[in-house]
Amino acid sequence: MASSSEQEPRGMFECQLCGLTVPYSYVGQKPPNTRTVVLLEECYVLKDPFSSDKDKFLILGSQCSLCSKLVCVGPECSLFYSKRFCLPCVRENLSAFPQEIRQDVEKRHALSKTGSRKLASRT
Ligand SMILES: [Zn+2]
Ligand SMILES: [Zn+2]
Repeated sequence: MASSSEQEPRGMFECQLCGLTVPYSYVGQKPPNTRTVVLLEECYVLKDPFSSDKDKFLILGSQCSLCSKLVCVGPECSLFYSKRFCLPCVRENLSAFPQEIRQDVEKRHALSKTGSRKLASRT
């Protein structure tokens, strides 16, 4: 039987851009109970509540490497290009990014007007 007190979240992750608030269960680069996964960045991780597989987890977000804001991994808030960047920082430094990233950001910007706000997961 699934019990709600199985694994207590460590706290709340709050995206400083969109305000998304989610309880997280781990912060760092190697989530517990995962055998082989090492993340490319320190991030806020939540064990996947929809899966009984212990290896499954969701990445909620992490810290922007430029402004140190906590941002979620949603396409409207951040992108990962060797490091995590929040979209405001990406836009400010757009010329420093390759063209494919620039085009991607423009696409995301257009999408954000349709109001789709989903938490993306990356494994
Ligand atoms: Zn966000
Ligand atoms: Zn930033």
